[in-house]
Amino acid sequence: MQYCDTLIAPRWCVPVEPANVVLTNHAVVINDGRITDLLTLADAREKYQPSAFIEKPDHLLIPGLVNAHTHAAMTLMRGLADDMPLQAWLRKGIWPAEKRWVSAEMVRDGTELAIAEMISGGTTCFSDQYFFPEIVAETAVDLHMRAMVGTPIIEFQTAWAVDTADYLRKASDLVHDPYADHPLVSTCFAPHSINSLSDESFIELRVLADQLDVRTQIHLHESAVEVATAVEETGKRPIDRLRELGLVNASLLAVHAVHLSDSEIELFAESGVSIAHCPHSNLKLASGIAPVAKYRDAGINVAIGTDGAASNNTLDMMSEMRTTALLAKATASDAATIPANVALRMSTLDGATALGLAQEIGSIEPGKWADLTCVDLNRLHSQPVYDPVSQLVYTARADQVTDVWIAGRHQLDNGRLAHIDTDSLLQRSNEWRDRFVASQH
Ligand SMILES: [Zn+2]
Repeated sequence: MQYCDTLIAPRWCVPVEPANVVLTNHAVVINDGRITDLLTLADAREKYQPSAFIEKPDHLLIPGLVNAHTHAAMTLMRGLADDMPLQAWLRKGIWPAEKRWVSAEMVRDGTELAIAEMISGGTTCFSDQYFFPEIVAETAVDLHMRAMVGTPIIEFQTAWAVDTADYLRKASDLVHDPYADHPLVSTCFAPHSINSLSDESFIELRVLADQLDVRTQIHLHESAVEVATAVEETGKRPIDRLRELGLVNASLLAVHAVHLSDSEIELFAESGVSIAHCPHSNLKLASGIAPVAKYRDAGINVAIGTDGAASNNTLDMMSEMRTTALLAKATASDAATIPANVALRMSTLDGATALGLAQEIGSIEPGKWADLTCVDLNRLHSQPVYDPVSQLVYTARADQVTDVWIAGRHQLDNGRLAHIDTDSLLQRSNEWRDRFVASQH
């Protein structure tokens, strides 16, 4: 008998890689935070003596969901400015509130609220883009959450930095230490959007990103207005400008990418660019519907993100996964496109690929981190179960997630957040609401 930390025996296990496999009567073995074995339950009983043996007789075990784009701290602005077009939403709703309230304390509380929500809904990794990224990273480490933390890079002064040089310096510091080789947190550069930086600043960013070997994520071709304005002001579509500046490559995560021409789709596929598709945010801000089936058919890696809670308004990857599948069918006029297993892959392994983490997470394979999500399908609206992946994508809700492990730590235990004080979090959230409301008058 071999000792191991944890042995999980679910009713169904979908490893995602290899594709289209549903295992029954299998067990996942965890040791030192990693998946060390995936074998039949009968073999596991003979071979292993676990410290914790967790049976889940009505449950589906999947890789933890990867939220490929969010602004975690914006949970504190959830519902602050709804039903407004993108530009008005930014100029009248979000930016004034941020100018008044963004601080290390706000980012810590907002990020903690976001992480609690994400873990409760089965998300084990998020790609973030917000001010005070060092606080986002610290909070992720404190709560044992996996994150790729994007450092904002813009040209105007905020509470975090004064000018582009200052943003780039702070961004580089964070990459070097202590997150150069951290088990949970990686970093990337996050220029907000195409009009956030001059050509010179983009070139500086690119040189630094190449030197430090970090990825870049940027909101790109989110709305038709963004593209038209860029053409008016510079004579170039944003993607053309980025290509000329040398930033369209396999290190680029293009967030939204709702409006792409056929030649831009081809360019992204050839260059190895990943897209973070955020359907609820695009719907809510009336930005349009990205034709993701077309992108995938062209060979682009498409991940799924929630965007921030101020434009969604939740960080619920289960619903984002379902909406992705449904919208893709309607957009392509083809009910067979983005079937349930593909929607699950986009929410897990393709997300990991977009973040440069496909060797470490995104599937249930020995050697990868034990980032796992367990979903109870024994609910009225998910019964009977013919195909557990279809039930997951088309019927399951976030509150059916019962258990979550991140790097082997049991973070959600029978529906309860094991390491987060939710009472304190609710109280702090309400205090922030009072502050935001007070500043609006
Ligand atoms: Zn965003």
